[in-house]
Amino acid sequence: MRQKIVAGNWKMNKDVHESMELLRAIQSAPIPEAVRVMIAPPTLFLDRMAEATQGHPLQVVSQNMNAAASGAFTGEISAEMLKSISIQATLLGHSERRAYYNETNESLTKKVKTAQENGIEIIFCFGEELADRKSNKHFEVVAEQLETGLFSTEALDWKNIILAYEPVWAIGTGETASPQQAQEMHAFIRSQIQKRFGGAIAEATSILYGGSVKPSNAVELFSQADVDGGLIGGASLQAEDFLAIVNAI
Ligand code: PEP
Repeated sequence: MRQKIVAGNWKMNKDVHESMELLRAIQSAPIPEAVRVMIAPPTLFLDRMAEATQGHPLQVVSQNMNAAASGAFTGEISAEMLKSISIQATLLGHSERRAYYNETNESLTKKVKTAQENGIEIIFCFGEELADRKSNKHFEVVAEQLETGLFSTEALDWKNIILAYEPVWAIGTGETASPQQAQEMHAFIRSQIQKRFGGAIAEATSILYGGSVKPSNAVELFSQADVDGGLIGGASLQAEDFLAIVNAI
């Protein structure tokens, strides 16, 4: 059985007091056993959040990680640093990192490799832009993002890979992919994994949908056969909304 996962990406929102308040509010609610719940707070608060969630099923993950082991990379964080504060997973390739910090399919392969070598679990984010969908290139673009950004890494350890399909036109816009559009793309993604790595891996890999998921649309999106949960931006900043989405699985 594939894992059902809901992950909240807080991006660059909330100061330390607000972050801790949100964390406590999420922690105070029961988490359904069938759902794996993750939050990605600002890097600055990872350490304190990891401590605050010790022994609790909520998992704290990073929003990013550098490909290099260490060295002159001002402002960056390494796999070793994450591990040293008990952070075992990171988002990679979020569309905002691709758009504002020049992350490309090619540069992402280095991050994937480093994460894999260090046993860091990856939530690999990808998805087409509006122009790609309008010109009917969305399958092609997604296939390329997977092939170059992820599949090209040698000897992938799929136990440590979660996929997050996030059409860029749906992120933070209030416009959501319809459940049918999400299902169609998720089934395509699974078929790509199946072609390259076989049916067992394809069936076992969780594929999350991200892009304006809200309590009002989560049930229908999550009920699609190949949608195994969600990566949530805006709605993860309110405990009530985030918990409603967690309980929509
Ligand atoms: C995201 O940034 O990963 C995201 C899905 O954002 P939102 O839910 O706000 O669209």
